[in-house]
Amino acid sequence: MRIIGIDAFQVAWSPNDTSAQRSAFVIIRTDDGLSGYGEASPMQGGLASLGIIQNHLAPILIGQDPLDHAVLLDRAMHTLVKLGPEGALTGALAALDIAMWDLKGKYTGLPIHKLIGGAWNTELPFYASIGGNGDRSLDDVLRIVEARMADQPAAIKIRFDNDRTALDSDIPGDIAKALAVRQLVGDRFPLAFDANNGYTVGGAIRVGRALEGLGYWWFEEPVQHYHVRAMGEVARALDITVSAGEQTYTLPALNDLISAGVRMVQPDIVKMGGVTGLLRCAALAHAHGVEIVPHQTQPMIGHTANLHIVASLLQGTKPAEWNDPSTRTHAVFENPPVPAGGLFHLPEGPGLGLRVNEAELNKRRR
Ligand code: CA
Repeated sequence: MRIIGIDAFQVAWSPNDTSAQRSAFVIIRTDDGLSGYGEASPMQGGLASLGIIQNHLAPILIGQDPLDHAVLLDRAMHTLVKLGPEGALTGALAALDIAMWDLKGKYTGLPIHKLIGGAWNTELPFYASIGGNGDRSLDDVLRIVEARMADQPAAIKIRFDNDRTALDSDIPGDIAKALAVRQLVGDRFPLAFDANNGYTVGGAIRVGRALEGLGYWWFEEPVQHYHVRAMGEVARALDITVSAGEQTYTLPALNDLISAGVRMVQPDIVKMGGVTGLLRCAALAHAHGVEIVPHQTQPMIGHTANLHIVASLLQGTKPAEWNDPSTRTHAVFENPPVPAGGLFHLPEGPGLGLRVNEAELNKRRR
């Protein structure tokens, strides 16, 4: 099997979407007539990763066998390493790796979870990940949490998308929202709090202590992601599980986070390494006795690729992330992943198991 074409493009789910609101997809086509689908990190619409694929990676990969994906992409990573192996480059490589695993599955007739050694469970609980709570009023936070409870999540995470240039801007307000949500859902319902890097070390410890008192399950990215030692300092100071890693792009960097003291890591399949990379992260986390709970906010390809990995994790300790849902991506997929009874069902079709309507996709290509 040889790669004969690589398409890298944005998908505009609605005609009014700005460039930054679009998804970044890749299709790898082979001489066998197969198409593998992948997705890159959508930051700023994924344009930087798409450009790297078009300009630098496609010329390297045309003519190669996609079953050699790990060798091909590790070689490409080291060829382009001076672009900076953190972010746009790893997002590009992640998209290609996912597409090549989709091809491997279609070539063999097997779903990705079979190719990586099997699923512990094919019915997967999820947590509802709810963004935008820094700017919402307390009442509006409660209304959106109530609405998301209708999906029967196993847990809820409230995210505080704060201004990262203004740390500790409303600690009393943030704690008041955490308390109100706890009172709304009752003492036993699992909750998580995502600071999105909004605090200083001292501010984070203050918020973390409040979350401990409220019985929150984990406290995500309390300080700036690039302050790795500070992240570890907060993790070591608190009893609540502190998590980080969605903005970590290499295996050595994930190791640094673990060495600093973080005991729950959240690498993202569309930001680093794809399927191959996330499996390496899982091995590293297991070796250190650290929880791995992948970050995932992309509703279709990213989400489905992530489910295959989550299902395969030994000691999967937390439900899979499911970001603010919308039906606007559904027309492009004949079997869009949607939970039923609080569970996602792992696709059994070859590769990712997603059936793409290419005509609908083409209407949205940019
Ligand atoms: Ca997060």
